[in-house]
Amino acid sequence: MKPAPFSIHIPDTIDEAVACLAEHGEEARVIAGGQSLMAMLNMRLAEPSILVDVSRLADLKKLEIGPDGLTVGAATTQAEVFHHPDLATHMPLVREALTHVGHIQTRNRGTVCGSLCHADPSAEMPLLLATLGGTVTLQSASGTRTLSASEFQTGLLETAKQQGELCISAHFPSLPSSAKWGFREIARRDGDFAIVAMACIADKGTVRLGVGGVSDAPTVEEWTDLATSDIPDALNRLAWKMGGTDDIHASARYRRELVRRIGKKLIEETRA
Ligand SMILES: Cc1cc2nc3c(=O)[nH]c(=O)nc-3n(C[C@H](O)[C@H](O)[C@H](O)COP(=O)(O)OP(=O)(O)OC[C@H]3O[C@@H](n4cnc5c(N)ncnc54)[C@H](O)[C@@H]3O)c2cc1C
Repeated sequence: MKPAPFSIHIPDTIDEAVACLAEHGEEARVIAGGQSLMAMLNMRLAEPSILVDVSRLADLKKLEIGPDGLTVGAATTQAEVFHHPDLATHMPLVREALTHVGHIQTRNRGTVCGSLCHADPSAEMPLLLATLGGTVTLQSASGTRTLSASEFQTGLLETAKQQGELCISAHFPSLPSSAKWGFREIARRDGDFAIVAMACIADKGTVRLGVGGVSDAPTVEEWTDLATSDIPDALNRLAWKMGGTDDIHASARYRRELVRRIGKKLIEETRA
C-alpha cells in the first residue's frame, strides 16, 4: 500500500518543531528514523497530513556518555550510540541490548528516542529504560517535563506523551561499579523483535529483572536475598503476574515458560 498524502516540515530549532506540533494538533506527527512510522504510514494505520521531521535537528543530536549514564537526544541514531567509544565502558548493558535491535540498516536510521516513543512491548530500548530506571524529557509549547520510565511507558504502543509534545531526550543511568548484569533474548531469527527479552542486574544482595515481550509494557521486578532454591517460584509468580496474550509469534503459555527457564539461567549467570 501507499501512504495517504502528507507534507513534511523540517524545523531548524526545537521551538519551531514544537510550535508546528501545537499548530497542527492531531494532524501532525513527529518522524525521526521512520523505521516504525513509515510501515504504519504505508499500511495507513496512521494518516497524518503533516510530518515534523526532527532527524536533522542539531539541537537533538545530543549524545553524552559518562559515569552517570547515557543521555541521548531525539535525533541520535541507535548506531551512533552503539559506536560511541565510551559505551562499552559506561553502559555495557545498553551496548549488549542494542546488538539485538533490528539490523545494521535499521539502526543507522532508527533513533533510541523513536523506539521509546513507539513503545513496542518487545523492543529492547524501552526494556532497558525501565530496568535501569531511566527518564524521558518532553517539550511542548507550554514547557518541558521529565517522566520516569514507568510514568512514560503506559501500554501497548502507548506512552504518556501528550498531543503537541516532542520527546527531546532520554537518560539511562549507569550501574554502580559493584553491579553485575546480563541480557538474554529469544527471537525467531537474529534481528527479529523479541518473543521475550530480559535484562538482569545483580548488586549487593538484590536482583532486578526486566522483562519485555510478555505484558503490554516492560515489567521490572526486584528481589532481595533471593535464594537460588527460591528462583523457580519467584519466576513462576512473575510469569503469571505479567499474564500475556497469544499472538502470531507465540502463545502466552510459551512466553511464561521462557520467563521461567531463561529467567532462571539469566539470574544464575548474572550472579555467578
Ligand atoms: C526490519 C525492522 C526490524 C526491527 N527490529 C527491531 C527490533 O528487533 N527491536 C526494536 O526495538 N526495534 C526494531 N525495529 C524498530 C526500530 O528500532 C525503530 O527504529 C524504532 O522502533 C523507531 O525509531 P525511529 O527513530 O525509526 O522512529 P519513527 O519510526 O520515526 O517513529 C516511531 C514513533 O515514535 C514517534 N516519535 C519518534 N520520535 C519522536 C520524538 N522525538 N518525539 C515524539 N514522538 C516521536 C513517531 O511519531 C512514531 O509514532 C525494527 C524495524 C525494522 C524496520
